[in-house]
Formats: sequence, structure tokens, C-alpha cells
Amino acid sequence: MMKRETFNLEMPKVGIIKGVLAKDIEVVGEKVVNLRTCARPYRNMYSASQLRTIKLVAEEYGSGKVHLSPRHNLEIPEVRQKDLDRALRELYIAGLFPGGAGTSVRNIFTCPDWCSSSVRPVQEIGMMVSHNFGDRDMPNKVTISFAGCLNGCSRPYNTDIGIVAMAEVVVDGNVCKEGCRACMESCPFDAVEVVDGRVRVTEGCQYCGRCLNACEYGVLKKGRTGFRVLIGGKEGSTVRFGVEYMRWVDDFEVLEIIDRVLRNYQEKAALRPGSTRKRERLSEVIERLGMEAFMEDN
Ligand code: SF4
Ligand code: SF4
Ligand code: SF4
Repeated sequence: MMKRETFNLEMPKVGIIKGVLAKDIEVVGEKVVNLRTCARPYRNMYSASQLRTIKLVAEEYGSGKVHLSPRHNLEIPEVRQKDLDRALRELYIAGLFPGGAGTSVRNIFTCPDWCSSSVRPVQEIGMMVSHNFGDRDMPNKVTISFAGCLNGCSRPYNTDIGIVAMAEVVVDGNVCKEGCRACMESCPFDAVEVVDGRVRVTEGCQYCGRCLNACEYGVLKKGRTGFRVLIGGKEGSTVRFGVEYMRWVDDFEVLEIIDRVLRNYQEKAALRPGSTRKRERLSEVIERLGMEAFMEDN
């Protein structure tokens, strides 16, 4: 049994808690609601103690089930409406807030920094983006994903704004005395060659960093790192791949680009043809205007 009501917490009522919007609490019947939650400030990661709270709330106020959404929100289905305030209070104390639905910036999705394939960390910048832009009202939903390498496990390629980390490979004097060829075998693009003790990274390199991990002798070293930014992808009834807007951008440039994309999307989105209510997705605005005109500030 959860211990509660042991102190007075300034807890605003449902509907006026910052970030609690009707869209986050889906009424599925007269007496039950689905509660979609995420952690703040960093919403793609939950502590063990937050997961304990989720378990207790789901068991006490819901049906004991928890659903992990594709964008890593935790949904507690079938919470009894009469218990909603108390459920929200327990979650609120644990740093868990309703959010992640509707026409807004959805949960920011990042790879874990501890992945051995990651070429540069993405969680901190994901947190900054979450802090600055998370839940911002938009003409339609906007998804943002950060990937720590080209593999794109966080689905940056068909998301509204996809950010993919990249790393250059450097070799001192291009010399390799080992000749194990592990780098060549690891490269998915046949972009590294070892011939007569010389290593050459060719123009086909996509900066995925795989050969860096494969080289056990320290011959290949990581050079500069940065991000590739893709804009205008989407999933759903129609699927689009994002178009590369820029590459080798740094953290601050990523923030600037995201800010500009969101502002321009707010200003330039029109109603969908035939609809009096639904606005275009970001990909539709870009298809209509072209990337250059879309990214121009008014
Ligand atoms: S995209 Fe790369 S860094 Fe991210 S989880 Fe996949 S393999 Fe790891
Ligand atoms: S970074 Fe990736 S693409 Fe470039 S040479 Fe290494 S394995 Fe190949
Ligand atoms: S993996 Fe490293 S040591 Fe092996 S051939 Fe390539 S550069 Fe040389």
C-alpha cells in the first residue's frame, strides 16, 4: 500500500498543472483514463525509483499494466477517474509528468551514451532540447530523435527532425604496420583500404565510426565529431525520410536549427487540403514550399 497524505504538497488541480493538458489524459470510458507520463527534465530515461512509482501507481490506481510507447513514454492504462488526482500526485512527487501526446513536440528520443557504437554522446543535448522545446505547441505533432551513430536505432531518419552523430577517422601518417584488415571488414561502405602498410579512408566514408571500434591496435583514431541534421521525415499512414539539411554541425548549431525549424513550422503550416481543422505535418510544409523557402526566416 502506498503511503500518502503525510505532508502538504502544493499540487495544482488536473488541467492546470504545467504540462498537463487534456490531450495527455485520454478518457477511454466513463470511469477510466489512460495516463501517459514522462520524466522531466530528461524524458527518455527513467530512474529505478521512478519505475517503482510507476509500478505502485499502476497497481494501486490502474489495472497493473504499463505500456512503453514507441517514443518511450510510460502509459498507465485504465486509471480510475476518481483516483486520478492521487495517481498524478504520486507521479508528480517522483518527477513524472503527463505529456507526450497531441499536436506538440513529442518526447525527445535519444540513444544511450553507453552504447559501444556511439561516436559521441547525445543524451546531454537531448536533455537541452527537451528542456527548451519539449511539449511546445505545434500545428501538428513534431518528433525529434538523436542517434549516437549512423545505425539510427532511435529512428532519426523518418522523424520530423533527426540528428545523427558522425565521427571522422584519422590515421597518423596513414601508416599501419599491423595489417590485420579488421577495419576493412567492418566498414559497411568499403571506404577504408589497407595496402602495403598504408591506410586510406576514401570519399565513400559515411563517418559511422565502425572501423574505429574494429581497430584493436589504436592505429585509427577519432577525429572531429559533429552532427548530421535531417528534416521532414515522418512515420504513420505515409512514411517520409528526412532530407539532409546540414552536416558537421555542433551542439549550439543543432539548437539553433531546431529553434528555426519549429518557428518556421508554426508560421508556415497551412490547413491540410480538405480539412478545416488539421494542419500540415512538417514534411508536407517542406514538400509544398521547398527546403530553402521553408528555412528562410520571414
Ligand atoms: S544508433 Fe548507434 S549509438 Fe545509437 S543505439 Fe544504435 S548502435 Fe548505439
Ligand atoms: S567511419 Fe565508417 S564508413 Fe568511414 S571508413 Fe570507417 S567504417 Fe567505413
Ligand atoms: S584495423 Fe587498424 S591495425 Fe588493422 S589494418 Fe586496419 S588500421 Fe591497421
